[in-house]
Amino acid sequence: MGLLLKLALFGVAIYAAWKTFSRWKGLFDRFVGTPPEAPRPPPPAPSPRAPEQANARPPVIEETVPCRICGAYLSSGATQCGRPDCPLP
Ligand SMILES: [Zn+2]
Repeated sequence: MGLLLKLALFGVAIYAAWKTFSRWKGLFDRFVGTPPEAPRPPPPAPSPRAPEQANARPPVIEETVPCRICGAYLSSGATQCGRPDCPLP
């Protein structure tokens, strides 16, 4: 018996064993493993946040400084609070 024939038979045996294993593994996964109809987690909702809901959320903390005169909070970049009754020049 030639060595090449032995190698060929060995390869065929490995191939058959692998095919059988993969087939049984597929059956096992189909019946025992995770079923394809498993309740998958809901996809992350890409729905944009509703404007009113966004407004209901606490505002993003940005640098705010209270007006020195009237106490109204305004962004640090603002020079005036904008209130008509603010005596700040
Ligand atoms: Zn003010």
